[in-house]
Amino acid sequence: MHQFHYVGPRLFCEQVPLEWLARKYGTPLYVYSQATLAGHFRKLDTAMAGVDHLVCFAVKSNSNLSVLRALARLGSGFDIVSGGELERVIAAGGDPAKCAFAGVGKSEAEIEFALRQGVYTFNAESEPELHRINRIAARLKKRAPVAVRVNPDVEAGTHKKITTGTYENKFGVAFERVEALYARAARLKNLHLRGVQMHIGSQITEVGPFEQAVRKVAPLVARLRDRHGLEFFSIGGGLGIVYQPALASGSPAWWRSPAARGIITPEKYAARLVPLLQPLGLRVLMEPGRFISGNAGVLLTRVEYIKRTGRKTFLIVDAAMNDLIRPAFYDAYHEIVSLNRRGGARVKSDVVGPICESGDYFCQDRPLPRVREGEYLALLSAGAYGSVMGSNYNTRSLAPEVLVNGRRVAVVRERQPIKAIFAHEKIADWLR
Ligand SMILES: *Cc1c(COP(=O)(O)O)cnc(C)c1O
Repeated sequence: MHQFHYVGPRLFCEQVPLEWLARKYGTPLYVYSQATLAGHFRKLDTAMAGVDHLVCFAVKSNSNLSVLRALARLGSGFDIVSGGELERVIAAGGDPAKCAFAGVGKSEAEIEFALRQGVYTFNAESEPELHRINRIAARLKKRAPVAVRVNPDVEAGTHKKITTGTYENKFGVAFERVEALYARAARLKNLHLRGVQMHIGSQITEVGPFEQAVRKVAPLVARLRDRHGLEFFSIGGGLGIVYQPALASGSPAWWRSPAARGIITPEKYAARLVPLLQPLGLRVLMEPGRFISGNAGVLLTRVEYIKRTGRKTFLIVDAAMNDLIRPAFYDAYHEIVSLNRRGGARVKSDVVGPICESGDYFCQDRPLPRVREGEYLALLSAGAYGSVMGSNYNTRSLAPEVLVNGRRVAVVRERQPIKAIFAHEKIADWLR
């Protein structure tokens, strides 16, 4: 469920009309709903009540300080993939002792920082990494809590750029090699073997792949638990969300619940996985990003020009691939709606940004309501992997972010001033 809905013709975020935000703060503009973030967190947390568990929000999906603070207040832990993300979590008031540090390329400096801060676990992805963590821990006279990421070699049935649990990609340690690796790691004196981790991919909309992976890995986890006294099993993130409505219906079908559309829900996920996890008697960690933040955010944009070429209608908007790269990067679908709903015929349109790349589009030949120059559109489901992937390409500012909570509105990131984009650049002295 999310809190973006029409009241009459006007699209609201919770109790705030989005057009009002677009006019007040300008576009492109990210808007987040705190009730939606909290609702998704609670839904998953409640569904998993049958096992001792910790939801670790994947910071990389949306790392705004206010988003992190709102989740920390609900008791969330955090899945981090860099020292920078750990700094953010701390700045937002999150607890490092509830942080899982993931990623294939942790640097010496990042490991040292995370060790000093006391993260809950380093989820290691290779043997050389375990040696590096052990060496740094020895130097700091600490024992580093670690888990190894198991690659279960299952197909997640998702886009190839976000599949992580097969042997074709760089993630984790092959299932068959994991036990021997734990045996060797057990001899490294400054490691504390705390758990096992896996993550099979992102935007997985069926329970099947999760169940398959847990079924495959659970016996291994039980053996490692008995041998090394493990404390947790992290089953990763990857729960998918609804991006694409059933187009035929005419009314924006993104109202329809995931359950009604037959895709994964926390209830289905828990119903299938909890019975497999309970017998292990371990603490279960989850690392959802998109599930919590995805449908909690929209990107507002203004129609600058309408360009008709005879063959095509282009809506040229003021947001671009530097603000939201998912369509260009992953062929991702974002539902596009008008902030002022009206009936009438739809026109096949391409919504494109101003950047000088033909990949800079948000949709092609999609039937959209007729709009006029100066009107606003919302790209839905932009709360995950949206703003965080923003860049300054074409010397465009990072878009501001607004958080809504009921009637309340806060600017949680200001629009980046153009001068700030090149503030750290210099003219070489011989060019002066
Ligand atoms: C990206 C990532 C996640 C979050 O994935 P979502 O699809 O956003 O839930 C969780 N765990 C790890 C290790 C990741 O790399």
